[in-house]
Amino acid sequence: MLIPCLACESRFVPDEYFRACSDYNRGLDLVSWTCPRCGNRDDLRVLPGELGFGYPYRGRFAVYVRLRVPGLSRKRGDLRLDISLDAGRWRVPTRIRQCV
Ligand SMILES: [Zn+2]
Repeated sequence: MLIPCLACESRFVPDEYFRACSDYNRGLDLVSWTCPRCGNRDDLRVLPGELGFGYPYRGRFAVYVRLRVPGLSRKRGDLRLDISLDAGRWRVPTRIRQCV
């Protein structure tokens, strides 16, 4: 299946889509996604069988749009999120914030 950008409605194959994920935030359980086409940045949560789009609200991440992606699964690590769909595997690392 193709996964759309919610801003420009371009559609991406899963490999292109999930490689555009970055900065797994384990606390809020979300990743950042930057559209390779239009540059729009979205926060999204990878869930079993779906993607959840939303925004941080009062210290939580509120999902307001769900997009079904059959077969999607994820595994949360301490410093990364592993995403899998069919034969594809993607690893989204946590950005290490350095304390100065
Ligand atoms: Zn876009």
